[in-house]
Amino acid sequence: MVVALAPRNVFAVPNVLRSIRTGLQPGGKTRLVIETASRPSYTLSYGDKQLIVNLSNTNGKTDIQTKLANGTLVKKISQIQDDSLLQVSATLSSMIDAIDKKQIMILEPNGDNDYRLVIDFIAGTGKGINTTTTSAATSTAKPVANTTQQTTHPSKQHIIVIDAGHGGKDPGCIGKGGTQEKTVVLSVAKKLKKTLDSNGYKTFLTRSTDVYLKLAERAEFAEKKHADLFISLHANANPSRDMKGFSIYTLSEKASDEEAQKLADSENAADKIDVNGFEQFSKDIRVALSSLQQHAVAELSEEYANGCAKSMNRASIEQQKGPSVRHAPFAVLRSTVPGALIELGHLSNKSEEKLLKSDAHQNKLVAAIAKSVDAYDFDV
Ligand SMILES: [Zn+2]
Repeated sequence: MVVALAPRNVFAVPNVLRSIRTGLQPGGKTRLVIETASRPSYTLSYGDKQLIVNLSNTNGKTDIQTKLANGTLVKKISQIQDDSLLQVSATLSSMIDAIDKKQIMILEPNGDNDYRLVIDFIAGTGKGINTTTTSAATSTAKPVANTTQQTTHPSKQHIIVIDAGHGGKDPGCIGKGGTQEKTVVLSVAKKLKKTLDSNGYKTFLTRSTDVYLKLAERAEFAEKKHADLFISLHANANPSRDMKGFSIYTLSEKASDEEAQKLADSENAADKIDVNGFEQFSKDIRVALSSLQQHAVAELSEEYANGCAKSMNRASIEQQKGPSVRHAPFAVLRSTVPGALIELGHLSNKSEEKLLKSDAHQNKLVAAIAKSVDAYDFDV
């Protein structure tokens, strides 16, 4: 049944533009900040050397403060009002690539500030930008009426890094039947790569053989590949042989519970020399890690982890008792790439050790994880 309902926000009180400013961030990033009276609802589109922020149900204002900092990519800002749609168009000094969701955040009001839509970007080559869908704003800087604005969703191939935990001299945990964690997770990682590749993703493995890699190397690998998602695969062991089921972890400097902390300690122990792995990162990444951007990465990781847990539940894969998603300071997750660490099951449990070794169960795990990747919302 099709019922022509007016969009919900037609009757809502319009949002009001308050200010626009730009600033230079560490690593030479340009930051565009659009302040509005209430929470902004936005999409992005792109023109030639142009970034357009489409704010729905928003009234522009010509007399607002616009502060453009020196040295950013933004040369000029203009506003185009098209009925209730406000386009904030930034004329840039260079091309940019389609902006990743993790480079965008909405900040709540604080102090003298109202809501702020914060967008970070650097110069690029137009990657992921559909240039056939240009905005009304590309042809003129004057206010334009009755122009249909199409939203450009970058049709970019998403990059996924799969990390098979442990390897080489580090076997990970070992089941009573002798099954080694490093072998099980490598087998699952390879199967997952095959599935994701055939589903249209560009997938990389941190290791495809039985080699030892430092945790920081794995995280940095994901950075270098500009991955959109990082999935680290592990299997668990517990002194209680009854304990079984999968669990999923995201990065947090504070563990969600004692058990999560213990697990992070044992997974991190692989690199006794360099538990943090933090010092090895290039300066740019360290800056990003300590910046507000981390907030956005944490949110996306949480979103993925929750979706993954749901997908595993749907596939009737046994879940460890307690919350499906936990948090702990896993060194391998310390990067600017959203992601999660999946403990596929317990090798310390006799029946689960058998399952984890079996092709059929590995395929089941792979199918569930692949579905969680499909369900993840990569685009802005
Ligand atoms: Zn492990």
